[in-house]
This record gives sequence, structure tokens and C-alpha cells, in this order.
Amino acid sequence: MTNAKAPASAGQVDQVQSKPDQAPAEFPTCSACGSERIVRDAWACWDTQAQDWQLDAVFDYSFCLACEEEAGMEWRSTPLTKTERICRLNDAVRAGRRKDGTVVITAGVQALGQDFITEASKAVAAFDDFHADNDPHAEHDFGALTVQAEKLFFKIDYYDLNLSAHSPDASDPSVTKHVLTIMLASEY
Ligand SMILES: [Zn+2]
Repeated sequence: MTNAKAPASAGQVDQVQSKPDQAPAEFPTCSACGSERIVRDAWACWDTQAQDWQLDAVFDYSFCLACEEEAGMEWRSTPLTKTERICRLNDAVRAGRRKDGTVVITAGVQALGQDFITEASKAVAAFDDFHADNDPHAEHDFGALTVQAEKLFFKIDYYDLNLSAHSPDASDPSVTKHVLTIMLASEY
């Protein structure tokens, strides 16, 4: 049991103000998506005088309302930008850390066999050679790599929850399905 920082109410953290001569107020964000909609397990005790439940203890378990799953917590003093959230989600999709992520292996990659697919998937997950030329929007949504002398591309597309149209907001995991495609460069 920890009784760390006072919990900010979900959805209200962006209203926290800080005076110029003070350190900026910190708030918890989801380490997977950057959302500030983080809640934690806690105990509340009834306060008869206040006629309300008062926070007694805050536990380690935290849950992201945007991801709808258990979340790691990262304390920040500035919100992540939309681009940073998209980038963070894409990294999680590549690493296989998101249940909303779908992986598509093209026919050309499949033809190279299961061992190749396994190695290619690991290489895509580990890829971190992003720079201004191959990632101009800083979203980590595309990369080129070589596995067993085969040139591969991966790309991540953002769909709505029905997989029928573009996501209305790729930075919000609650309205986005991610599709990671691993393909031969020759199939692009
Ligand atoms: Zn999240």
C-alpha cells in the first residue's frame, strides 16, 4: 500500500493551475497512451461530519479509462501533445502491448515462413531508428528495416472502432483501432 500523491480527479487534471513562482503542479498520465484519465484503487472512509466519503488510502493499481486496461503511471507537469500520444500508442502497438492492435502480415512476408515472420515481428517491435527523414510527423508510424537480407516496411494505420473509416482522433485509444502492417518493400 502506498499513500503517494493526492489523487487528482479524473478529467480535471488539466485544470490544475500553478503560480509562476511555484513548481508546476504534477499529475498522473497513462504511460501507454499519455491520457490523464487515470484512476487508482483506493479506500474511502465515511466522514459523518462531512457527510461524504473521504479518501483513506491509495493503492498501487492504476487503470486508464482511455485504454480501458491496467496502466503504468507517469507523473508529468505538462500534458503530452497529440503527436506524442500517437507516437506513444504506436510504440506500444509495435511492442504488442495493446489489446486493440491488429497485426497484418502480407502474403509476401507469410511466404517466407513462420521463422521469418517471428524474426520480422521482433525486429519491428525493437525498431527505434526514427529520424526526421523516415518519420517526418514524429508519430513512429512507419519504418524500413532489413531482416535476413529482405527489405521490409512496417506501417501503422488508425481506424475507427468498426475498422470501417479513419479514426476520428488517433491520439485517443478509446476511439481508435491500430492496424500494424508488416510487408516486403516490394509490396509497398
Ligand atoms: Zn492509456
